[in-house]
Amino acid sequence: MSDGAIATKGVPVRLEKVSFTYGEAPLSFDVAFAAAEITAIMGPSGSGKSTLLNLLAGFETPLSGRVLIGGADVGAEPPASRPVSMMFQENNLFAHLSVEQNVGLGRSPSLRLTEADHADIAEALARTGLAGKQKRLPRELSGGERQRVALARVLVRDRPVLLLDEPFASLGPALRNDMLDLVADLHAERGMTVLFVTHQPQDARRIGQNVVFLDNGAVAAAGAADDFFAGAGPEAFRRYIGASAGDSVSRDIARKPT
Ligand code: ADP
Ligand code: MG
Repeated sequence: MSDGAIATKGVPVRLEKVSFTYGEAPLSFDVAFAAAEITAIMGPSGSGKSTLLNLLAGFETPLSGRVLIGGADVGAEPPASRPVSMMFQENNLFAHLSVEQNVGLGRSPSLRLTEADHADIAEALARTGLAGKQKRLPRELSGGERQRVALARVLVRDRPVLLLDEPFASLGPALRNDMLDLVADLHAERGMTVLFVTHQPQDARRIGQNVVFLDNGAVAAAGAADDFFAGAGPEAFRRYIGASAGDSVSRDIARKPT
């Protein structure tokens, strides 16, 4: 990457006594995420996982409390100027823009790109397995390839915090594992702080160093992934795994991938 790129050394992320509501049930978050580590965010549907990420990204505004990224209060910053990138399950790309233009948006919203930018874009495309596909439109790509484009944009955007809201939920198991491993590799290279929402315990176990478990609009448990997936994990989390995943997945998560 060019010398002008922002160095992505992960920074700590904190929601400090943050409260929020869409009008009905209140949500409240008081939680810290370790710098430069991958934290899996789990919890039942509607527990507040996406809301938590949206508060960090600036798509939602707290009623009270502070959003701290790298120790700085980013509450007044619009999403584009926060030191974060975010990736969703779908609709990460502009349909009328090519792969390389979609990636280029990570560097310049107006797509005014320098030679160095183009070199970085080519490098990011190669790194995410998209070499040769730079002229394609999103509709000419598979679902997995579209998510690779979104990851390439994350690379050229080069922010210290990466927020992933179930980005691989619609992919089959083998492809999902490939994508998770790509995220883990990029994390090893860049050291960004990664918050990763997933419904799949095996995904959390595969790449997560920490787990934050949400229930009913608040953090019900938080800790090291190894503790969560040991028999003695938090009671609320074990109940969630047992109820949502059934025996086969419970057996599956007991087996750490090599
Ligand atoms: P999760 O991502 O864990 O499934 P969400 O953060 O999307 O949960 O939702 C948390 C709560 O807020 C849920 O009760 C949900 O119905 C509600 N909610 C989410 N988005 C909106 C919205 N745009 N308008 C109104 N209520 C919402
Ligand atoms: Mg969600």
